[in-house]
Amino acid sequence: MPGHPVQRAADRDQAAAHLVTLMDQGKRPTVPAQAPVHSPADRLRATVGVRATRTYAYLLPDLRFTIPNLVRSAEAMSRLAQLGWTPLAGYPGADQPWLMECRLCGWKGHRFWSHLRGRNGNGIPRPANRHPGCIPVKEHPLALINLAAEREYECACEFQHATSVEQAQDIFRSIESAVNAGAAMRATLYTRGILEPCPASSRRALVLRAALDRRINRRKNGK
Ligand SMILES: [Zn+2]
Ligand SMILES: [Zn+2]
Repeated sequence: MPGHPVQRAADRDQAAAHLVTLMDQGKRPTVPAQAPVHSPADRLRATVGVRATRTYAYLLPDLRFTIPNLVRSAEAMSRLAQLGWTPLAGYPGADQPWLMECRLCGWKGHRFWSHLRGRNGNGIPRPANRHPGCIPVKEHPLALINLAAEREYECACEFQHATSVEQAQDIFRSIESAVNAGAAMRATLYTRGILEPCPASSRRALVLRAALDRRINRRKNGK
């Protein structure tokens, strides 16, 4: 893993098992980026315990702490995983520079979500060359297919991330009651199921959106 001592493994399974051990210890291949000191996410990061949240505290969106913003963040991050990008900071909004790492070549720099989600959200990322100096465009599809093999439909993580609408609703309720009680730290802890990297992030984004839609409909109907 980049940034950690090299360990030779006998085969892929052992290598994967070692990676999982490192992940369980909270180690990550990349160093979280520093957000501006004044941002709400940074204030929350300063409030919460470091240890419990180090795998996802740096992914708190640099936006107002609301459930729709958390859902937008999870959606953007799940799409980034499909496109072969690793976010190194929390989702900053569609038109703000967002620090990330290219998984095809290891380049680190800022990209805009409004470009990656495509023109008018048509899903076609721009620019086609990803960034200056990336591997040739004709090699991108195969590289992305190889990355897709890492993604899962079920969350098999030690910590259960939301992959059902009910789980998503539970997290929303927990966050909401913590926020209402003025417990910013507790609210942030509940975002783990939404923000922490998970191989099932595509499904998680779908169930989060579905849970948010239900919530909005319920409110519209005055229930
Ligand atoms: Zn690249
Ligand atoms: Zn998971």
